Amino acid sequence: MAFVVLASVSCGAAEPVPPARVPVTSTTAYEKPASPAATPSPTAPPAFKAKVSNVSRDRLPYSWRPGCPVHYRDLRLITLSYWGFDGKPHTGELVVRETVTDDIVTVFRKLYGWRWPIKQMKLVDAYKADDFDSIEADNTSAFNCRRATGSSNWSNHAYGEAIDINPRENPYVTASGSTAHENAEKFTERPMKGKGVINPGDKVVKAFSQVGWEWGGYWSGAKDYQHFSKGGG
Ligand SMILES: [Zn+2]
Repeated sequence: MAFVVLASVSCGAAEPVPPARVPVTSTTAYEKPASPAATPSPTAPPAFKAKVSNVSRDRLPYSWRPGCPVHYRDLRLITLSYWGFDGKPHTGELVVRETVTDDIVTVFRKLYGWRWPIKQMKLVDAYKADDFDSIEADNTSAFNCRRATGSSNWSNHAYGEAIDINPRENPYVTASGSTAHENAEKFTERPMKGKGVINPGDKVVKAFSQVGWEWGGYWSGAKDYQHFSKGGG
């Protein structure tokens, strides 16, 4: 309150004095050098892009079939920018449920801005919807109409509400500490350093948490370090 009164008094006092305008001119001059800095330089990476589109049946020849818990008409294809292990921008594809497209775009916009590296991002159909082969190829993917590992229940992936990120660097590790993928054996410990590795409390985990997605690295017993899902599970 006292500050507001003081400020208005000071304004009123300055008004009749013409030199008071000088600082205004100098403020304008200060603004000018800021403009070129705001213009993207020719070497800046392309801005993050994400395009959400309907997905046709023929884009999901292996990952969707009649009887799946979510119809393909309720799924969306997201074509989006990601930062590669090669330190360059790339474009990848993900299929998720229509209701979570905003969540995914929000998180991947942040990852791209951080230049957080992702090995590759193709639909699991590139591996005939074989989860093992997709993981073996270190492929980041989301929708796959399949059962949960070691269960007869549908996986959250079957609902298009789960994603596996850099599965080689972030393996599914059993309670006894083993992984089914030989090429992931050196990535079973946490915390650990490494390109594309997700650790407890990481900004990646927080970015997902902010849109209501939980990390499989926080499970008790077996840990699924690659796995994020809407509402957990
Ligand atoms: Zn998963």
